Amino acid sequence: MKFRDDIYVYEWKNYFDNNCNSYYIGGGVQALIDPGLTRYLPDLLKQMFNDGIKKDDIRYIINTHSHPDHFQGVELFDQEVVKIAMHRKELDFLKGVGGELYGLFGITVPQMQINMPLEDGSIMLGDQKFKVICIPGHSPGSIGLFWPEKKALFSGDVVFLQNVGRTDFPGGNGGLLKKSIVTLSDLDLELLFPGHMGMIDGHEKIADNFNIIIQNIFPNI
Ligand SMILES: [Zn+2]
Repeated sequence: MKFRDDIYVYEWKNYFDNNCNSYYIGGGVQALIDPGLTRYLPDLLKQMFNDGIKKDDIRYIINTHSHPDHFQGVELFDQEVVKIAMHRKELDFLKGVGGELYGLFGITVPQMQINMPLEDGSIMLGDQKFKVICIPGHSPGSIGLFWPEKKALFSGDVVFLQNVGRTDFPGGNGGLLKKSIVTLSDLDLELLFPGHMGMIDGHEKIADNFNIIIQNIFPNI
């Protein structure tokens, strides 16, 4: 559904199965963030279509990380026409242990060329400037995608509403996760769009959320 301006939010609300939240930035950007599992992609595209967005409109797919519940659905896109982005560190991970994770779930790694490998720093997506921030801990090359103009952060599975991403998958690291979350807590944010559970709207609420996590959850990581 349309959230605000050019931002569309597709929250995953079915607690009986796993998939991620997906986000779309329209306007001059036209980027889908985390397509989710392949089996749910048709439903996502239908929801987007109902919001006036066609599959052909999508120019970028930004993958916050390589876990199947975020990334597998890229296999239904045409890599000749869509830029498929992932951090270089996550790409290396996916070629090794990260790829083996797919086998554990009885599925195969999408046979796609990641034709837009990401580094830390500023990138242009269409006519808007974003910042890629590598935030390891949940996976080695997880990214936060920060949109300074909107003070918005797409945080993947690193930070959630009153919770954090798990660190018990291969490539997870609790110490790094904490460092990453502290890094994110320094950003000037008005909108936090996590990979699971609800989004957080408002500077104070986001600051409170980081404080709650640092005080109550960090001691257990
Ligand atoms: Zn994940």
